Order: sequence, then structure tokens, then C-alpha cells
Amino acid sequence: MSTETILVLGGSFAGISSAHFALKHIIPVLPKKDGITYNVTVVNPSKDFYWRIAGPRVAASKELMPYNKLFYPIEPAFAYAKGKFNFVQGKATHVDSAGQTVSVETASGEQKNIPYAALVIATGFSTPSPLFTQTTDRAALEATYEAFHSQLKHAKTVVIGGAGPVAVELAGELAEAVNGKPGFMASAPKNPKVKVTVISAEKKMLPILRESISKQAEKFLKRVGAEVVYNTKVVSATKASDAEDAKMTVQLSDGKTIEADIYIDATGTRPNTNFLPKEWLDNRNRVSCNAKTLRVEAAGPRVYVVGDCGSYTRGGVMDQYDAIPVAMTNLRTDLIAHLSGQTPGPDRHYEANLKEQQLVPIGTSKGVGAANGMALPSVMVWGIKGRDYMIGMLVEGHMNGKTYEKEGKWKPQPVVAAAQMGTSRG
Ligand SMILES: Cc1cc2nc3c(=O)[nH]c(=O)nc-3n(C[C@H](O)[C@H](O)[C@H](O)COP(=O)(O)OP(=O)(O)OC[C@H]3O[C@@H](n4cnc5c(N)ncnc54)[C@H](O)[C@@H]3O)c2cc1C
Repeated sequence: MSTETILVLGGSFAGISSAHFALKHIIPVLPKKDGITYNVTVVNPSKDFYWRIAGPRVAASKELMPYNKLFYPIEPAFAYAKGKFNFVQGKATHVDSAGQTVSVETASGEQKNIPYAALVIATGFSTPSPLFTQTTDRAALEATYEAFHSQLKHAKTVVIGGAGPVAVELAGELAEAVNGKPGFMASAPKNPKVKVTVISAEKKMLPILRESISKQAEKFLKRVGAEVVYNTKVVSATKASDAEDAKMTVQLSDGKTIEADIYIDATGTRPNTNFLPKEWLDNRNRVSCNAKTLRVEAAGPRVYVVGDCGSYTRGGVMDQYDAIPVAMTNLRTDLIAHLSGQTPGPDRHYEANLKEQQLVPIGTSKGVGAANGMALPSVMVWGIKGRDYMIGMLVEGHMNGKTYEKEGKWKPQPVVAAAQMGTSRG
């Protein structure tokens, strides 16, 4: 008896969704062969999925966002696929594409080699601040939040480097949690306990949203006691000593410095791809793929990338609803061709939705954003996202796979790119 494995690296938004898709729409239709079984294996450092989207609120207060709303056990979510699903708590450390094997270091320190028939890379990204990345397990990230909450209790000045959605959401959540909810008509708190400053390198915040939305965000931030400095970069942030309560000196590009009790780096992200061969990566260390089929063409047959570590995407969970069915349909096509020896079927193509789209809660009752190119009123941003950071709306379907109950309609596309590039699909 041998097992052919669809191996998924990463068990977060993209990895869990890919595994559900494979169990629902791929495994059941693979050719039946004597002595061969099929299986989906997910490798992830933590046993628990982390709802990163709510990170800014939990950083501000665990009363507003309790830990049990943030973490969800991965393995039980696949109980419906008994015998066909396998979870490995660990980290991929190396991929041997010639031998089609991934080396994994398990959480207990054991080394494992896992052979794959098809490989899905969904290892996402890490943030410069430890507040928004689960590197090992739930307990470690909870400890990070605990330490941050005790720092916040005594802080008078908080500086946030960066002015993307994470920085703006964080500024709003922190400022409201420490300075209190402003009155209905208030434009700023009377006696703010903490001064929160957002440092924007550009002349506006929120790069993918229009300037008027950024202005509205600035007004909402001001209401809770957060201000924005524009056209300025953080050059460095250094701690005066190793003492827990030591001040940070934040050096800015205009020559000024700010003394801060807390500095949070919310500038950019780093793809988790350092275990992959350099030739598979683009110049931003994302996994380079065919932007239509999501095949990693430098990696040999049956390797795909989904989620924020892929070169095809500007990122975000919503984009994965378009990308995952594409990558997984093409995986199925290639795997069936490989196992049956038949000519592969047509490709499915990914189309990026580049419309102005982003929701940014600011505190627990306001927010800015746009959907499908249309600016949304604050109350809608609150209703969709700010209320609970979409936990009620999305977590259940994500964890139990109902989001991918159907594989979605698609138009078969001729097989062009791979053939032209001389890469193997089957
Ligand atoms: C604070 C914050 C708020 C956000 N809010 C929103 C939002 O409102 N809407 C939205 O669309 N997007 C939002 N995003 C972006 C969203 O979180 C990402 O799009 C999403 O996390 C990407 O999912 P992913 O599965 O590709 O990667 P990740 O979520 O980064 O997951 C990657 C997984 O792979 C694991 N991993 C890493 N290395 C290895 C390895 N070597 N082997 C095995 N596993 C590994 C990681 O531990 C992790 O579990 C937000 C991001 C942040 C930081």
C-alpha cells in the first residue's frame, strides 16, 4: 500500500482553505488504483489557526477581543475527512523538488521527510512587530500580548511606524482603549492619557484607498487621541537600555526624534519563504509563479502557491477566494494527468480584482473603506468589520471548509504558458 500526498505548507487562511478544497474536490475524483491511497497533509508550526485580522483589537485589549476568539484548533476542523487528512505540527525547512520531498522539523524537534505528489506553498508572511505573527504556538503569542498589555498600562507615548491599514487600525484601537470612547460630537479627547502618533512615509495614509478616505481616517484617529505625521520615515528606533520600561528613541527622516514608551513597527511584511530555493523567488522574496495558473514553474511539476507569499497577489484574504479555486483546480488537472497518464485538461485562470477595496475600522464604532471601487460610510465599515473583525461572518466557514463547498464556475482556458515555457504540468 502506498500513499500519494497533496502536501500543504502553512495552516492559516490559504493553507486551511486549500486543504478543504483538496479534500472536497480533488481526492474524491482521483483515479482509483489498487494499493494506492490519497491524503492531504498540512504542515504548520501551531496547532491553532490565528485570526490575524483581529490582531489590532486584541493588542489593545483582551477584554474587547478575548483570546478564545482569536485561535481555532486546526485538526478537529478536518474530522470529516478521517483517514484522508493528516496534520503535522512543524516547519518546512527544505524542499527537494527533484525528489519531490519536503523536510520538516516538527514541534518536538524531530526531522521528517514528507514526499509529495503535489505541493501547495501557503506559508504567508511575518510582520516586523511580533503582535501580528504566530511564529510558534498559541501560548507564545498570548504571552506576547500579555507583555504588551502590561507595557501599555504605564505608557504615555506610543509611536507607530507606517500608515497602512494595520498601522491605522492599531492606532485607532490603542488610542480608544487607553483614552476612552469620545463623546458623540467630540473631535478629540479632552485629557488624553496616551499620545499615539502614526508616522506616514507618504502624503497620505492607506495606500490603496483614495485621499479623501485617508483624510476621514485622520479625523477619526484624532477623535480618539491619535495624530498623524506625513511625508516622514522612521529611520531607527532604539531602546535606551535593556530594562523593561526603558524609553525608545524614534529617529525620523526629518531629523526630529520622538521619545516613546512604546514603538511599534507596522511597516511592510516579510514573506516566509527562506526555506525555498532562491530560484523560486522573485525580487521581493515572494514565490514566483505563473500569474494566471498559480503554478510555480521554476519548481518542477505540480507545485503551486496560494496566499500572501505568492508573486501573483497584492495580498489579503478576500483575494484568496479568487485564487485558491484556481490553483487547486489546476493542481487537480495536473495530478489526474500524472496519475492516469492522460493528456491534461484545460487550465483555470486567476484574475486579480484590483478595484479600490479595503475596510479599516478605527476604534470600536468608526471606520473607513471602500468595496468594489465605492467608498463606504463609517457605519457600514463598522457593521461588516469593526464590530467583531469579521469573526462571526467568516471564521466558521473558513474552519469547517463550507466556504469551499462548491468549487465555483470557471471558463476552461487553453494550455499556453506552461507549454511555451517548456515546463511540465503533469
Ligand atoms: C493585523 C493584520 C490585519 C489584517 N486584516 C486584514 C483584513 O481585514 N482583510 C484582509 O483581507 N486581510 C487582512 N490582513 C492580511 C491577511 O492577514 C493576510 O492576507 C493573510 O494572513 C494571508 O494568509 P496566508 O495564509 O497566505 O498567510 P499567513 O496568514 O501569513 O499564514 C502563513 C502560515 O504559514 C505558517 N508557516 C510559516 N512558515 C512556515 C514553514 N516554513 N512551514 C510551515 N508553515 C509555515 C505560518 O505559521 C502561518 O500559519 C491583515 C493582516 C494583518 C497583519
